[in-house]
Amino acid sequence: MSKEFDPRAHSASPAELAGRVIAITGASSGIGRAVALACASHQATVILVGRNPRTLEAVHSQIEAAGAPEPVIAVLDLEKAVAGDYDQLAAAILERFGRLDGLLHNAGILGTLSPIEHHDVPTWCRVMHINVTAAFALTQVLLPALKKSADASVVFTSSAVGRRGRAYWGAYAVSKFATEGLMQVLAAELEGSTHVRVNSLNPGKARTMMRRQAYPAEDINTLPLPETLTGPYIALLGPASKGVTGQAFDAQPMMTSPVV
Ligand code: NDP
Repeated sequence: MSKEFDPRAHSASPAELAGRVIAITGASSGIGRAVALACASHQATVILVGRNPRTLEAVHSQIEAAGAPEPVIAVLDLEKAVAGDYDQLAAAILERFGRLDGLLHNAGILGTLSPIEHHDVPTWCRVMHINVTAAFALTQVLLPALKKSADASVVFTSSAVGRRGRAYWGAYAVSKFATEGLMQVLAAELEGSTHVRVNSLNPGKARTMMRRQAYPAEDINTLPLPETLTGPYIALLGPASKGVTGQAFDAQPMMTSPVV
């Protein structure tokens, strides 16, 4: 049984993640970038996973300039990657670090907002592939490294529309329901027999490109910056959440207004 835990209530110490190796997908921008910087500032060695080497290098430089542990860049396009690309990343992590202590599935795309009746099928497949299938494949290939950690944490990124269906959110909403399902099934499989815990986190609305795409008429400057939301990620990726598994969390108080 998991204990009661609220990642929003945790206050991380400066070296909370020292000695931990944490991989973050979509570390190039938005929430993933902010969490990567925060993990590094709490002394984790971060593996920056993304599709764009230029933006990943910018995050790498920022972490280095701050004097945090040197991060590693892993270029992986979750739309195009094939089995060999995943295997290569897993082998490189095991060779360099011998284990993986944290994995944040953050990368995702919105696709198009559309009624199911008219949803574009290729867009549906693309969203499901990047948001769900790629996260499944990456988790599967990294499980041996996660199992070598004394205290590993996998965090899937959810959304309010992945917990209660909302009209016109199409493949994005369904992909987030599937993400919650993947989290629950994997958590149940690993609980008791491994040191790997698995949870999901809904960041709530944040000032990012995805939010702008979802709500083009909104004044984005009124929304929280991603860097203000990193605390619950640190709590779930680090030792604070030891023993907590199979749970769905929110990074912000529950909203009544729409959130992606
Ligand atoms: P952004 O669009 O700002 O960032 C998405 C990230 O995913 C980027 O780093 C992007 O890389 C990466 N990505 C997209 N496609 C691929 C791909 N094919 N291969 C590798 N990486 C890829 O979105 P947010 O920061 O807002 O979203 C982060 C997560 O939070 C998502 O899972 C989203 O669903 C979730 N979320 C966001 C909310 C919000 O209000 N912003 C609310 C609820 C949930 P690149 O930089 O190269 O484009």
